[in-house]
Amino acid sequence: MAQDKKINLLDFTSDKLKAFFLERGEKPFRATQIIKWIHQHGVSDFSEMSNVSKVLRAELEDIAEIKPLEIAIDKESDDGTRKWLLRLDDGNCIETVFIPEGSRGTLCVSSQVGCALDCTFCSTARQGFNRNLTVAEIIGQVWLAKNLLQPDPESERVISNVVMMGMGEPLLNYNNVIDAMTLMLDDNAYGLSKRRVTLSTSGVVPALDRLRDEIDVSLAISLHAPNNALRDQLVPVNRKYPIEQLLASCNRFMEGKAARERITIEYVMLHGVNDSDECARELAIVLKDVPVKVNLIPFNPFPETRYTRSSNNRIHRFSDILTDAGLVVMTRKTRGEDIDAACGQLAGDINDKSRRDIHFARIESPAQT
Ligand code: SAH
Repeated sequence: MAQDKKINLLDFTSDKLKAFFLERGEKPFRATQIIKWIHQHGVSDFSEMSNVSKVLRAELEDIAEIKPLEIAIDKESDDGTRKWLLRLDDGNCIETVFIPEGSRGTLCVSSQVGCALDCTFCSTARQGFNRNLTVAEIIGQVWLAKNLLQPDPESERVISNVVMMGMGEPLLNYNNVIDAMTLMLDDNAYGLSKRRVTLSTSGVVPALDRLRDEIDVSLAISLHAPNNALRDQLVPVNRKYPIEQLLASCNRFMEGKAARERITIEYVMLHGVNDSDECARELAIVLKDVPVKVNLIPFNPFPETRYTRSSNNRIHRFSDILTDAGLVVMTRKTRGEDIDAACGQLAGDINDKSRRDIHFARIESPAQT
């Protein structure tokens, strides 16, 4: 029977490709070869896979493809930050941002088209939720960025870190995000260390509890408030999974890990909302028994937002109170602002904004995504 839609090999982890090949009577080591061609060498054409037999190449050509994401817009900021707006097959767009830092660089990857969580200070939330990204669409962002930034495979590695901090809530697209991160860690694919792959979440506790057993990556928590009354307003998922539950889950996540490993607590600095001395003192108390480092994020404004950024003095003062209380604190440098690529400014075009409610109702059971 003719295959009308080809299988996109970007959807496969090494293990899944091995299983796929075994089913077809092929040797599993072929899967390793092909994973290397795709992810290490950035090849999308089977004819370039010189150590794969001609017969298998022809067979794959018939049924499969390696389908890169389509670039709609490619912008570079004055500070070197690069943002791609990528168009998916269904016309939706997502964004990927590369933030260079010397010879290293961090790629900020999206996990969903839009987001269902409705955090009041985030521009992605205003677009509503459309759908989860496939594995191919998530890892495809890394594939594309690596190829565009590093056309010569022998040159120095440019993407040194990946953060799941683009559009969407990664724990609400659990299975696909796990597979994509598996490829990021896979030595035959991107070979990033577990410290350099970070999943950022608003705190979907049941999914967070599963994460630790399934993959070893770094964790960032979008906390943004020291108490439930304030967090309920800023991060509405808090009404379902309040701070105590979230931090207890963080502690379970860290059980048995090396003492130097820390969860990053993200805290967006909103003028007059969550940036008082009292908030800082309260935050220090709330975090005192959790192995964390705190990342203060100056708020990035977007059209029609009700918030403004805390002053630098306020951010310093807030940081000092936390430091005096014994916490490790960093203030995130704002990058890519001139091209709307800074945190919370990512806003790909979303076709269908009406599906947020459906997805929000499914938070209870992230395993189904
Ligand atoms: N849903 C996930 C990942 C995406 S958000 C999460 O919530 O963690 C990535 C980070 O950017 C989060 O810490 C988020 O709270 C922060 N952010 C969102 N909007 C922002 C804005 N306008 N200014 C600064 N940071 C923002």
